[in-house]
Amino acid sequence: MDVALLERTLDELGEPRFRAGQVWSWAARGAQSYEEMTNVPAALRATLAERVPFSSLTVEREATASDGTVKALFRTEDGRPLEAVLMRYRDGRRSICVSSQSGCPLTCTFCATGRMKFGRNLTSSEILDQVLHFRRIEPVDHLVFMGMGEPMMNLDAVLEACDRLPDVGITNRRTTVSTVGWLPGIEALTAQSRPIRLALSLHAADPELRSRIMPVNDRYPIEAVLGACRAHFAATNRTVFIEYVMLAGVNDSPAQARELAEALGPGRTFKVNLIPYNPTGMYDGSPREVIAAFKAVLEEHGVHATIRLTRGRDIDAACGQLAVSSARDAA
Ligand code: SF4
Repeated sequence: MDVALLERTLDELGEPRFRAGQVWSWAARGAQSYEEMTNVPAALRATLAERVPFSSLTVEREATASDGTVKALFRTEDGRPLEAVLMRYRDGRRSICVSSQSGCPLTCTFCATGRMKFGRNLTSSEILDQVLHFRRIEPVDHLVFMGMGEPMMNLDAVLEACDRLPDVGITNRRTTVSTVGWLPGIEALTAQSRPIRLALSLHAADPELRSRIMPVNDRYPIEAVLGACRAHFAATNRTVFIEYVMLAGVNDSPAQARELAEALGPGRTFKVNLIPYNPTGMYDGSPREVIAAFKAVLEEHGVHATIRLTRGRDIDAACGQLAVSSARDAA
């Protein structure tokens, strides 16, 4: 829901200010339509339904995996594709992974989105509407900007969306912005006051390898990016998550684990999340025992590490996969 358009429309209709708050509060609590907003006069509900679209997105496709993960492929009003995922965990957590751009201008070689044509930055409404879509299914409490796109390239809209997420049930402390190392964005996130979590997609500690799989490393080299992450920890006292996708025979050897441990150092500044890879054609995922051995090396060096639970494998739940498979089906 475009809240700015809602406010403008209510102003034009001569409605009191509190109406916008009423409408937003229904939407944030998972209302399915204007019809449900029983404290808003029926005639006004009908006018709003004509003038302010209930969502800025339409659902093109939705898939539910055997583990309960739900993935949706949306289209914006101008036809841009984007994806979001609802992950359901046994401990009751409900986490949403949202997109900040349609497509992505960066071209990480392991990522299906990186192979799509870049569309544009999403608006804060388009970001929120991904969340509201899942909120209409059930209450949600965690969110990561880890879908399509580099959120730090669209930070204003990301932060604008973050300001409304607590109304939906997701506090800023339970919100994580994941970047491939867009340095100005990391610095800007550190400089603002919302207690949002920072995650860095690192995937290789060796600069040459990192540049090969993540060309952004040529623009913002790893040492400078890790320096900005250390500054973030120093300023906020919040641990920075290091995302490390495990690519068989590429970045998963014990020597590479040692190199990573040396780059990060021991202590609370960083925590590594090892991510089993959802193959997208270019690479194979590392076997489970290789991931466990990698983790053991990190821990021997005092680096805290976990292995991410895989979700939604049977529905192409990795970033960009649903849009890619949808385009393939349409071809
Ligand atoms: S991993 Fe992220 S930054 Fe890299 S191409 Fe994919 S969406 Fe873009």
